[in-house]
Amino acid sequence: MHANIELPAEFLAQIQSSMPAHLSMDAFVDACQRPLRRSIRVNTLKISVNDFCQQMQAKGWHFEAVPWCETGFWLTRPETETTPLGNTAEHLAGLFYIQEASSMLPVTALLADNEVPHLALDVAAAPGSKTTQLAAAMNNQGALVANEFSASRIKGLFSNIQRCGIHNVALTHFDGHVFGGWLPESFDAILLDAPCSGEGTIRKDPDAMKNWSPESIDAIAQVQRGLIESAFHALKPGGVMIYSTCTLNQTENQSVCHHLKETFGDAVAFEPLNHLFTNADASATEEGFLHVWPQIYDSEGFFVARIRKLDAVDAPKVKKRLGKFPFMAAKTKDQQAIAQALHQSLNIEIPAQSEIWLRDNEVWLFPRALTPLIGEIRFDRIGIKLAEQHKKGYRWQHEAIIAIAKGNEACCVALSTEDAQSWYMGRDIRPEGELSQRQGEVILCYQSQVIGLGKWVGNRIKNGLPRDLVRDGNLFSDC
Ligand code: SAM
Repeated sequence: MHANIELPAEFLAQIQSSMPAHLSMDAFVDACQRPLRRSIRVNTLKISVNDFCQQMQAKGWHFEAVPWCETGFWLTRPETETTPLGNTAEHLAGLFYIQEASSMLPVTALLADNEVPHLALDVAAAPGSKTTQLAAAMNNQGALVANEFSASRIKGLFSNIQRCGIHNVALTHFDGHVFGGWLPESFDAILLDAPCSGEGTIRKDPDAMKNWSPESIDAIAQVQRGLIESAFHALKPGGVMIYSTCTLNQTENQSVCHHLKETFGDAVAFEPLNHLFTNADASATEEGFLHVWPQIYDSEGFFVARIRKLDAVDAPKVKKRLGKFPFMAAKTKDQQAIAQALHQSLNIEIPAQSEIWLRDNEVWLFPRALTPLIGEIRFDRIGIKLAEQHKKGYRWQHEAIIAIAKGNEACCVALSTEDAQSWYMGRDIRPEGELSQRQGEVILCYQSQVIGLGKWVGNRIKNGLPRDLVRDGNLFSDC
């Protein structure tokens, strides 16, 4: 079905003047009026692509592979399935992320040489599509700093990271301009999915063009030039960065990349993406950037550039003023005690490459690869909170169990559909057939996936779901 989206004449003139000769303006306008195909990305931290597809095909889901992302699929569900995609059991358990297909390109481009970074930065991260995609590609190893400037968007970012079971991420809350000065030449890989005018998102959001004007594009491009310079400073020599936007004009795309080259000369190399996937060439510019017009792959519009830093450059000098870091690395004997308690009560091991840090009575798991940055910049949170210590032991935390339990621990309780629904709605549950004499903490599973942590109190399991994750209904059913 076509929508009737008004496109400003000035915008269309700008598109016409910059669209390559082999593409047609009619096809562009037609694509802008067509609703987007729905796409998802399988979260391989929780399930393999094969297992997920098999499980969901049995429910009538139909998948078409996204050619540039091994874990991405366009999805068709049976018309009878009315549960919103975000309320399905599989989404709540973090098995997949709803992500527009073209937005999967930047992370694929970042990993084009199959080198998984040890320490990475996502400069503009919320709501977290690419942070979660990159963390999954890193297999929860190394460390990824996810920054977001907008305070109101941090909560959504964190909740996506949490739902997907990610424990190698640290969150920061800064204007992205700070990274070059504060953390010069620190990261192996950087993703700058820049704030932009959003011309490529018309198909998803008919209001995307409401505030469009040539003046606003110039203003955004100025911010983007500052952000790309800062990101380049923060990149280690030899490292790779991606500059991407979901907009179509050259001012915010090619020109921003050329500005970087003009500023840093031979230290900047554009690495062509023409062969990133079959038919990538159809969207490649003369520099080898991908400029995805919506009609080429029937997607949103997108722009992706891959840039390598060939040489060190002088970073801006800043005076750092940091407050006291409130955590301390746990002593070996404390680490052993915590690991042992976790093993004894829930049969879970501390993940390799994690370190235990303490703040008052809180026990945290930090990704080890992040520790060189401690004391260099202020973090909003690092890794995951494992437990709160109290007189009699440890109160294990939902976010940690979601991320590190496997679902095969002896204390797992498998829930029925009805009980799992009640669980997500914040209610205590009384699993049928379970003996009321059982005691202590349990890991709750639904369809073999860990969904939370509970505690037997008499003959019921007390709900331990954090309040902000509680749903008010319209959840998955037993289909
Ligand atoms: N990468 C995200 C994803 O894939 O889910 C989408 C990022 S969105 C295109 C751009 C983000 O940049 C927005 O969340 C916006 O709040 C943030 N932002 C705006 N100005 C910024 C700045 N000066 N520094 C860092 N982030 C900024």
